[in-house]
Amino acid sequence: MARLILHGIPVSAGISIGKVFFAWRDNISSLPRGIVAPGAAQSEVERLQAAMEVVQNELAQARDRVPAELKDQAAIIDSHLLIAADPKLIKDASRRILEQNITAEWGLEQAVEGIAVAFSNIEDPYIRERVQDVRVVADRIYKRLMGASHSLKRPFQERMVLMAHDLTPADTIELPLDKIMSFATSEGGKTSHTGILARSMLIPAVVGVSNLEDNINDGELVIVDALRGLIIVDPNEDELADYTELKFQFEAYQKAVHRECRLPAETVDGYRVEVDANIEMTEEVAQVIDSGGEGVGLYRTEYAYLSRTKLPTEDQLYEEYSELASIMAPSKVIFRTLDVGADKMLTEQSLMQEQNPALGLRAIRYCLRNIDVFKNQLRAILRASVHGNVALMFPMISGLQEIRQAKMILNEVRMELDRAHQPYNPNMPVGIMIELPSAVLIADSLAQEVDFFSIGTNDLIQYSLGIDRGNRHVSYLYQPLHPAIVRSIKYVVDAAHREGIEVSVCGEVAADPYCIPILLGMQIDSISIAPQSIPGIKRIIRRTNMEECKTLLNEVLRTATVSRINRVVKDTIFKQFPEELTFYSSLIDYDD
Ligand code: PEP
Ligand code: MG
Repeated sequence: MARLILHGIPVSAGISIGKVFFAWRDNISSLPRGIVAPGAAQSEVERLQAAMEVVQNELAQARDRVPAELKDQAAIIDSHLLIAADPKLIKDASRRILEQNITAEWGLEQAVEGIAVAFSNIEDPYIRERVQDVRVVADRIYKRLMGASHSLKRPFQERMVLMAHDLTPADTIELPLDKIMSFATSEGGKTSHTGILARSMLIPAVVGVSNLEDNINDGELVIVDALRGLIIVDPNEDELADYTELKFQFEAYQKAVHRECRLPAETVDGYRVEVDANIEMTEEVAQVIDSGGEGVGLYRTEYAYLSRTKLPTEDQLYEEYSELASIMAPSKVIFRTLDVGADKMLTEQSLMQEQNPALGLRAIRYCLRNIDVFKNQLRAILRASVHGNVALMFPMISGLQEIRQAKMILNEVRMELDRAHQPYNPNMPVGIMIELPSAVLIADSLAQEVDFFSIGTNDLIQYSLGIDRGNRHVSYLYQPLHPAIVRSIKYVVDAAHREGIEVSVCGEVAADPYCIPILLGMQIDSISIAPQSIPGIKRIIRRTNMEECKTLLNEVLRTATVSRINRVVKDTIFKQFPEELTFYSSLIDYDD
């Protein structure tokens, strides 16, 4: 038996066997707040000074990379540089370390809290808020103090299993992909963006693994079973042999499924559904075509913003979008406008330190507040629309006023392009994502405003059931077949069809072998899923009978409890697709 088996949430399918590389993301809530050995306080002061110097150098280098036109960004970094080099801050923290004989981290924390108290008495709200800058800089220093040399960028000698407390999408973008076999994190939930990126990079991943940091050491041999969500630490020979065999079978299954991925997704009784791809980067386009994707149903545009140190220019975006549109033409590409916030923060958003960022200035709300950023992107999308079959959709629409405002700005941009004699497609379809319960309930009115709907179930589940999609503690409540979710999706599909517009599902639910028959039963027009899920899901659709899907849906709609629904669905689907269910993880939990 293995020394230990840890459980987590599988978010990107696959098996890997290899040695662990731990990239610690420091958890500020666990700062070492302790007394140091007598006589050791002076070396704590020196450690603090050294960390502050490193941070000063990092900031100075970042400042040098900011182009002249981005004055605001440069000013922010300048102010952070001043804080990192503030002699009063160093003096105050050092005094506390020496007087109380405490760790450098604790001394700095006390000094920062002292500043926070002093700032809280300042009347001018702008200056009062500046304490957040002090905290941001202090976080950087804590990370340095707590061993950030153990960072993601440390070169690997061989291919490793990457483990971390958490990986944000911005971290994931920096990963040396050729050296990573798979990854596992302590944080994260079923549909967190980290998992979405892992799938797009074809890296097996397990998130939300409790006790990861406490139980595994650098260099230890592990099996990452990202089909079932297991980390097997120090496996024995039998386990190694079994998993080598399972890995082989999984890869053989993938190849077999891949062979039929170009065939249309049509049920045995002739119901045809369009299967598109969700992608984050233009580089994935080859994978879309290779896996049998018919178009791009969701282009998550935010990664171009997160992977740069400054906002992209209109021309940079235009180049990216028109390249994608022309490669995919005549197939469609739906560009979703910027959906930053929550777990995909721009630097300026993290500085705001919102209490509940998922309920904060995210997605369309951020864009309507930052019109220049919004218009920049809209111009780029409109200009790219002449190079292919381009559509646009707005995320996180909560009501009519928001969609009307967004459309008004889009019109302004059209007029600006007219004045500048820049070509664009005046008939470019405009849709919205249905991700909020409020949008579900007014779907009939919203349908009159737009050309199509795309149901974002990742967020719809998060906001309907009130659970953070990235939080492993509540991931057991992430139930896609909760009656409220099934009824919501059905309500939106029916409203869209009554108003004569098409409706797609672009959340992870559409890539779940247990959920897809329910969506088919509702007569959705298309789905959009990660490219690597396309072959398997198409295969399931091609072996499904629409009449049976409708019967199953009706039974689900009559059932009141989620556990009963899961059981009914499980029993029905498992009989039909035992093989798929070995190789695919599901969002559904079962209590056998
Ligand atoms: C969704 O919310 O379901 C969705 C597809 O958008 P994202 O996962 O990017 O939030
Ligand atoms: Mg969403």
